[in-house]
Amino acid sequence: MKFVDVHIHLSDSEYYGKISEIVENAKQTNVVAMVSNSMNLETSRASLRLAEEHSGLVYAALGIHPWNTSQLASNELERTIDFVLQNGVSNEKVVAIGEVGLDPQYAKRKEQKDLQAKVFHEMLRLAEKLTLPVIVHSRWSTQKILDMLSSYHLRTVLWHWFSSPTELLPKIVERGNYVSEGPPTVFSTRIQEVVRLVPLENLLTETDGPVRYYEPFKDKLTTPAFIPEVVKAIGEIKGVKENEVAEQIYRNFVNFTQIGL
Ligand SMILES: [Zn+2]
Repeated sequence: MKFVDVHIHLSDSEYYGKISEIVENAKQTNVVAMVSNSMNLETSRASLRLAEEHSGLVYAALGIHPWNTSQLASNELERTIDFVLQNGVSNEKVVAIGEVGLDPQYAKRKEQKDLQAKVFHEMLRLAEKLTLPVIVHSRWSTQKILDMLSSYHLRTVLWHWFSSPTELLPKIVERGNYVSEGPPTVFSTRIQEVVRLVPLENLLTETDGPVRYYEPFKDKLTTPAFIPEVVKAIGEIKGVKENEVAEQIYRNFVNFTQIGL
């Protein structure tokens, strides 16, 4: 069985000095690809560096996270756009724009909300221009993001750690988009319900590391080595054999990233 982690933050400081261990661990557990998602300009650079250092295993998603839009350095938006434009076309290690989106908890005042939406629009424009898929953070913003997406011609969209509202899942599936779920698939009834509702052809697996989880992952550093547990849980929910789940998710990953694994 081959496993994939489409959403991890390998450039997070919690992983400093631990990357070789994580890479070794991933190989031992048959994780064949992971996408290092970015938060800002600095982590976009770091994600690409990691993808170059661990070619064939690590890939990069570049962009500005909605949690960071209120603290951007001067010209950081413009410099990030330039960086993505420079690397997004020619560098096959760049497989997506992410992590981007909206989150009202990090944009309470009107001018913060406007800036968050402006940055997201810029990221969507980049994805459209570069024909790259988009990895979205959609907490409390699903309908708003669906509305924004309708004005772009995007290759495809991945709704990472989608949890609610499940009423909008048919729209997401109708668009041919993907939903990725991680360790909470093992213990959260809400995420298990999402997995039940999304066809296997639209599902992907992630860890969102270094986010920490509860049982059975309590007190453990989150790494792609958790993915086999997630695949097992998806199989149980859907009543599909584990190896068939792994195979379909791997196919979905290749379709999503367009990389020839
Ligand atoms: Zn994330």
